[in-house]
Amino acid sequence: IYPSITAVIVSGISTVSLAFYDVYIGLALVIFHGIVGVLIPLLTQRISLKPGKELVNLRGELRAKLVDGIQGAADLRVFNRDQYQGDQIMATAQKINRLEGVLSNISGSHGALSLMITNLGVLVILILGIKALAVSQISGVMLGAIALIALVSFEAVQPLPLAAQKLGEIIQAARRLFELADLQPEVDGQPGKREVGELRGPVIFNNLTFTYPGRVEPALKHINLKLEVGRTYAIVGPSGAGKSTLLNLLLRFWEYHYGEILVGGRSLQEYDPVGLHSKIAVVPQQPYFFNANILDNLTLAKPGSNEDQINESVRLANIYDFISTLPQGYETFIGEQGARLSGGERQRLGIARALVMDAPILVLDEPIANLDPVSQKYVMQSILGLKGTKTRQGIQRTIVLITHWFLCLDQIDEIFVLDNGKVVEHGTQANLLSRGGYYAYMYALQNRIIEV
Ligand code: ADP
Repeated sequence: IYPSITAVIVSGISTVSLAFYDVYIGLALVIFHGIVGVLIPLLTQRISLKPGKELVNLRGELRAKLVDGIQGAADLRVFNRDQYQGDQIMATAQKINRLEGVLSNISGSHGALSLMITNLGVLVILILGIKALAVSQISGVMLGAIALIALVSFEAVQPLPLAAQKLGEIIQAARRLFELADLQPEVDGQPGKREVGELRGPVIFNNLTFTYPGRVEPALKHINLKLEVGRTYAIVGPSGAGKSTLLNLLLRFWEYHYGEILVGGRSLQEYDPVGLHSKIAVVPQQPYFFNANILDNLTLAKPGSNEDQINESVRLANIYDFISTLPQGYETFIGEQGARLSGGERQRLGIARALVMDAPILVLDEPIANLDPVSQKYVMQSILGLKGTKTRQGIQRTIVLITHWFLCLDQIDEIFVLDNGKVVEHGTQANLLSRGGYYAYMYALQNRIIEV
């Protein structure tokens, strides 16, 4: 089509009777730049907006399905659903493929169209320049300069259609990012909150009632309990009793509105939540270890801890001997999620890591739930060995054990029994057993004193 378009343009220009060719050159530049820099980008943006947004969403979906497939590979295999998950991933990948095909066609088309309009523009300007030269409006040198300047000037607008095509994808990606960035934390670390300081004094739950957002039934109902400095506590109860919720409220992961939690005589809500986390060390049910060496994992919460501090924590957690037997000691890599350690070693290393943090309150969330009886005994020995120990600031450690295993609880100062969001009993194991209440019943069940 180039020769025929050229012929039309040449004959059109030849019919122009007025000889203001310099004005026409300027006009042609504006018109062709307008087409390449405004019209084509607008058109491109319009047709690629929807597939662009869809592509971003599908890529997110594909990533989520891939992560699910990898993390749940063992379960998928066992339940014979690996083929199904693979098909789902393939289906999403094919949708992405199709959309990428559509967007490639669009980018190919606007690329070709821009190039064609650019070349036509240069051609028109060249013809107008020749006409201007013929009537001596410009010199011969100027003709070459005009043609080259026109050619170069289009380079500034030629990338615009592609930028317009990417706009849909960028808007959607930004929307997804802002959706996350705009999420309001349940409890905000507002400036102006009280510094936690050394956090001395007991932790008191005072008539605390808490309902999760969207739930009707409270997870905790009128909780009253007191955790004195330097003592050991166990919070026991069946699944769903509210044990983790109690911990989550203490750590300020959720906001409470009814009742009070006091620490050192002040409301927990007065303290800066970030500072609070450095005073309450938590050993989760399954401590997460990074694919780094033992030392890096131990100093996660307190980088720059010195050797003495680390050795002391490791000894207290009963894992020093194990680390000493390793040829590379603290430099040993423990694999992704601590895969090269046994369950008991992972748990004791988790305790050591919490001790390196040197917080006055140590909470252990179901520390022996996934262990064999022998490892359970070792881990409990490590925990009970912490009784009466002090932080480097000389504060006696308060230890809170959340558990549904009744192993060694005779050595715990006070046990709170939770059931259905309420503290139904509390006391020492001896008190609770002699009382013959819910604790005694659960204890008997677990120790097979009564038959199920
Ligand atoms: P436990 O730790 O004793 O097993 P939880 O504290 O985890 O018990 O749960 C207490 C109750 O709160 C349960 O009924 C549970 O379904 C509910 N719950 C726990 N977490 C959430 C949550 N994030 N959103 C809504 N309800 C929750």
